[in-house]
Amino acid sequence: MTADVHLEARIRDRTVDSALRRRAAAVVPGGMYGHLDMARLAGHPQYIHRARGARLWDVDGHEYVDLMGSWGPVVLGHHDPVVEAAADRQRALGDCLNGPAEIMVDLAELLVRVVGHADWALFAKNGTDATTMCCTIARAATGRRLVLVAEGAYHGAAPWCSPNPAGTTGEDRANLRYYRYNDLDSLRAAVEDCADDLAAVIVSPFRHDAGYDEELADPDFARGARALCDTTGAALVLDDVRAGFRLHHGSSWEPLGVRPDLAAWSKAIANGHPLAAVTGGDGWREAAGSIFVTGSFWMGAVAMAAAHATVTELGRRHAVEHMVQVGDALRAGVLDSAGRWGVEVSYTGPVQMPNLLFADDPDRRLVRAFCDEALARGVYVHPQHNWFVSAATTTADLDMALTGLDGAFAAVRGRARR
Ligand SMILES: *Cc1c(COP(=O)(O)O)cnc(C)c1O
Repeated sequence: MTADVHLEARIRDRTVDSALRRRAAAVVPGGMYGHLDMARLAGHPQYIHRARGARLWDVDGHEYVDLMGSWGPVVLGHHDPVVEAAADRQRALGDCLNGPAEIMVDLAELLVRVVGHADWALFAKNGTDATTMCCTIARAATGRRLVLVAEGAYHGAAPWCSPNPAGTTGEDRANLRYYRYNDLDSLRAAVEDCADDLAAVIVSPFRHDAGYDEELADPDFARGARALCDTTGAALVLDDVRAGFRLHHGSSWEPLGVRPDLAAWSKAIANGHPLAAVTGGDGWREAAGSIFVTGSFWMGAVAMAAAHATVTELGRRHAVEHMVQVGDALRAGVLDSAGRWGVEVSYTGPVQMPNLLFADDPDRRLVRAFCDEALARGVYVHPQHNWFVSAATTTADLDMALTGLDGAFAAVRGRARR
């Protein structure tokens, strides 16, 4: 069977997925929305039936090795037995209650132990809640308005930070100013422009703008950002929502020796259960206690129990080291395949959160075709977003991934310009 026939067969065999898409089109605006909208990607199933470890199955029964980890949350693997047992124990006691369960204090204590800069923690549901709270705390503490954001960086889906301007107003962003990631001069100039009205500098642990090569943080940039915040009294806010607990067991800039004042967490913190957190140092405790932030489901105890188990297990299993090993092997395999098939690629970022792009592919046609071919061979990857390696990836999972990706390179090699 040629690669194209293989792909065609997979795409044709989407009976259940197609029926669900048709029903959704009638009752969900656009059929689907946000980052999980697969409408413009030919090879991606929209609906997933179940998942275990590093594998998932779509509603038509196709099996995949999962290299997306639910876009970040699933770090120990799908349905991790230890995390799910902790969640089940808490669920038997209660979840959404009149007050938080004991687990909230246990979890805050755990984060304060594990996260270098943390003297306290607050909890919420989404990463956007956490990044927004960091800005609110910084403004409450400083009495200033402006927040510096890296151009093109993603910090969530609220009007102040959404990458899609539909329905937002200029006023939503009136208190933002911009700098270029890893460009200390541009940060310094932006800080000067804010004069005495700078409340916070928000920064991600590395540059992971969707659709672009990833860039690790230049340690001088990180240290320079710390020094500028120290001089001005603004909060250094680390947006660890995506990278948290994947680069380091604790805050992602700990290996650089740079401690933020406030950090936003979500995604991997509870292995797929809905939880976000803000951590901070003592100097920001009073302001953090002064703002009004809450949500009907924020104190859900099951997600907190899952987070406690996740953070504990990540440490106990040396998950970061394991993800680096798997990520190194994935990177080596991908680059080897690309080289053998004569395809020029750029594979960037930390190996546990890599980003693949093709050379000379401005409209991303090649990387999309490649991902479609990979999906047809049972490897779930994405053409516009970094991938996420999970700590559940076994040798067999890695072999299946590398075999599928090699086949995908073979299938697109004729289309790639050299
Ligand atoms: C996903 C993400 C967010 C937003 O988190 P949500 O849970 O989707 O609200 C914020 N910052 C970064 C870096 C992210 O990757």
